Amino acid sequence: MEIRSGKEQLDPQMTAEKVRCLIIGSGPAGYTAAIYASRANLNPVLYTGLQEGGQLTNTTDVENFPGYPNGITGPEMMEDLKKQARKFGTDIRFGIATDVDFAGNTRRVIIDDNKLVDADAIIIATGATARYLGLEAEQKYAGMGVSACATCDGFFYKKKDVAVVGGGDTAAEEATYLAGLCNKVYLVVRRDVLRASKAMQEKVKNTSNIEILWEHQAVDLFGDNGVEGVVLVKKKGTPQEETVKIKIDGFFLAIGHTPNSDPFKRFIDTDEVGYIKTIPGTTKTNVPGVFAAGDVQDPRYRQAVTAAGSGCMAAIDAERYLSELHK
Ligand code: NDP
Repeated sequence: MEIRSGKEQLDPQMTAEKVRCLIIGSGPAGYTAAIYASRANLNPVLYTGLQEGGQLTNTTDVENFPGYPNGITGPEMMEDLKKQARKFGTDIRFGIATDVDFAGNTRRVIIDDNKLVDADAIIIATGATARYLGLEAEQKYAGMGVSACATCDGFFYKKKDVAVVGGGDTAAEEATYLAGLCNKVYLVVRRDVLRASKAMQEKVKNTSNIEILWEHQAVDLFGDNGVEGVVLVKKKGTPQEETVKIKIDGFFLAIGHTPNSDPFKRFIDTDEVGYIKTIPGTTKTNVPGVFAAGDVQDPRYRQAVTAAGSGCMAAIDAERYLSELHK
């Protein structure tokens, strides 16, 4: 059996730790799967990944997760979920899955390139990473006007002016959503066409408070107290190149997400972007005993509550699979 670490082939004689249910990832999907799996006596072991708590630890206030009428900060919510998972006996460990081998009957996962775990059932909940432009200003104003999720943060920009970067369905959807809350939405598109579906394009074009800035690229943000404006270059690299500054309070990125599925791709079917494919209505992947939950398998909704819901489904699917396995 070939077992690769990131650097070299691992010793096939290496002793593996045997685990009944292995959960990879510590966002709402991973922790919810852990809560359900531990309550079902599956003795789950959860590896957190590099960013313990996942994408929500980048957010400030979460006001749309049911059950928190006064809102809660993303990091607090993730800490609560972790405590809840631990309370029911989940073994939570820091580490990342660097490779897997699902070829044989044993599902093998390599942690941190140096530890082998054999699991009867595996729940992949490694999430997705929002793409950013790579500007220094995006880091400087993180949580102070820069966001990669309009549904999460749009509410804070009620009656204000914002910019959305991107030309795909997400950008069109987020611009339309924000237009319902904000005074004005600039849609910053790098080409002279939108990639979004025709229906979404029509929606954007027919919304009076959305202005599309064609062939514009954001190069910087400014403001003393959070984002107060964006610097854009129009027709960059052409003789007509022009720099413009626009006053805005919020800067939303909608240039796509990267699902964190790389270590699994040799065995698990994904779509062309890398989202793990699951059998509709379930969390089952193409490999029996391997389930996927949360943003790593969801290009569409990507909400904390939908991730948590699919984490619950994954634990139930894993529990049923294991009870069949041990009949
Ligand atoms: P996409 O990859 O479809 O679009 C990304 C957009 O961001 C493109 O317009 C791209 O420009 C632009 N972009 C990428 N990098 C940069 C950059 N560095 N600077 C400026 N612009 C940039 O991602 P989406 O998240 O929009 O959609 C992902 C998938 O999910 C798609 O298949 C989409 O159809 C689907 N989806 C479906 C929805 C629905 O059905 N309701 C809602 C949301 C998403 P360019 O066009 O020039 O490459």
